[in-house]
This record gives sequence, structure tokens and C-alpha cells, in this order.
Amino acid sequence: MNPTCGTLYIVSAPSGAGKTSLVKALTDADPAIKVSVSHTTRSMRPGEQHGVNYHFVPHAEFHALIEQDDFLEHAEVFGNFYGTSRTALQQTLDQGYDLILEIDWQGAQQVRALMPDARSVFILPPSQQALRQRLNNRGQDSDAIIEGRMREAVSEMQHYAEYDYLIINDDFAVALEDLKAVFRANRLHRAAQQQRHQALLDQLLA
Ligand code: 5GP
Repeated sequence: MNPTCGTLYIVSAPSGAGKTSLVKALTDADPAIKVSVSHTTRSMRPGEQHGVNYHFVPHAEFHALIEQDDFLEHAEVFGNFYGTSRTALQQTLDQGYDLILEIDWQGAQQVRALMPDARSVFILPPSQQALRQRLNNRGQDSDAIIEGRMREAVSEMQHYAEYDYLIINDDFAVALEDLKAVFRANRLHRAAQQQRHQALLDQLLA
């Protein structure tokens, strides 16, 4: 572990667990944390922006990027392709920022194998009922799509045990504090603290 480098974080959750809102609140509050912008072949949802939420690309371009080995990880998630580009990732970490990958369990498995120092967080809803309610509240999808998303959510949640940290998003403010605590605790890791406070340590031991 290079203590001057930022830490790579994987954050996964079923759709509707509040992952994107939690990550946004975290990064709004802490400029030392960045979020990686993935590539996807899925179509843009209302309110989304190219280059902000995702790099939205056609299938042919996505597959060309796979051929060029541009992705650290990529996966097909419920019919669409998603991938994390290597380019910005290492640069961001080398600059000392912590970097979040909001990816599914398949991508998480690939990243853990390549970058064993990555920390992983799984966000869970407080109940299936609350999850269904949240998927309904989006008001964008039909009942059949919501039932499909519930099934997808249960299949994603089956992988919770592969993660380092579990956060239950019942009360948003509490879940946000929990997420902040994960980042804060990791920054207190001895190797990183030793690097930051070498002068103090030298003085204390003189
Ligand atoms: P959505 O289409 O709702 O934004 O995301 C669907 C799923 O794809 C979520 O579980 C999300 O975390 C995952 N996902 C988003 N970007 C990536 C990526 O770059 N790689 C992988 N493996 N999954 C991703």
C-alpha cells in the first residue's frame, strides 16, 4: 500500500437502496473523495447527463473499448453493459484522492482480484417492503418493471457477504454518517497516518 495514494472504494447496492444519493451526499461533503464515471450502453434516464452520470456509448463503441483493454472491469448487468475505464482511475488515486466505484457485484469481484487494497461497501434497504416502495416512488416504471427490479435486487443482495462493510439505509442521515465513518476510519490506518505525521512521530520519540 502506498500511503500517499488515495484508497479505492467499491460501493454496491440493489437499485432503490439509495446508493447514488448517499454517494452524492458524501462527495458533496468531502472534496477529497471522487466518483468514477462509468461507461454504459443503457439509454439515458430523464435528468441524467452524458459525462456526469455515465459516459453513454453505443454497443459498438463499448465493445471496441473492451478490445482495446480500456476497462479495469466490465459486466453485463440486467441486459446492459457497464464498465470502469482504467484511464482516470489510477491518475485520481495517484493524486491522493479517494475514489468510489459504484459498480455491481460482478465488477466488485473483478476489482478485488486486481486491487486487493480496495475497500468494499454494500448498502441494504431496511426491508423488501421499503425497497418496493422506493422503486414505486420513482414513478418512472410499470408494475411489471418494478417486480422485475425487485427480483434483480434480491439477486444483487445475495452477494452482500463478499463486502467489507454493510450499511442499512433506513434513516438517510444515519446511513450517511455510517458511510462517512468508513472513510474516516480508513484514513486513520497506521501506514497513512505515519506518512502524514512523520515529523510529529519523530519529535515524540526523540
Ligand atoms: P443503473 O443502470 O441503475 O445506473 O445501474 C445498474 C447497475 O449497474 C447498478 O448495480 C450499478 O452499480 C451497476 N454499474 C454501474 N456502473 C458500473 C460499472 O462501471 N461496472 C459494473 N460492473 N457495474 C456498474
